[in-house]
Amino acid sequence: MSTSRRGRKMTKIKGSCNKCGTCCRFLILRVPIKLYGRSDIVQWIRYHGIDVIDKDKDMLKLFVPLECKMLKGNLCKINDRKPKVCKDAPQTKDQIVKGCGYYV
Ligand code: SF4
Ligand code: SF4
Repeated sequence: MSTSRRGRKMTKIKGSCNKCGTCCRFLILRVPIKLYGRSDIVQWIRYHGIDVIDKDKDMLKLFVPLECKMLKGNLCKINDRKPKVCKDAPQTKDQIVKGCGYYV
């Protein structure tokens, strides 16, 4: 187990990428509930066809299907210069999608 820069305990991630491309086909957004209130945010995201996939008292975690423009087939066109957010993923258990080659 390692510790993130914010001091949160992180689970050790095992496995390797099987190049399925799934994680390049969506965004996960976390929206603070206190900004507008839960019901207002849920109404707004439903109109966009977005799902709430998790929530706690402060945040809604949203699943946004949106393919990255740098994806070709299942592979990254800019693999050698892709953002660090891509290079480091997945960092936590909840970032591991179904079919991913990583596990905890
Ligand atoms: S979902 Fe997992 S296995 Fe698939 S491309 Fe992303 S990191 Fe690799
Ligand atoms: S930049 Fe590459 S690795 Fe990152 S989301 Fe896009 S296709 Fe995937």
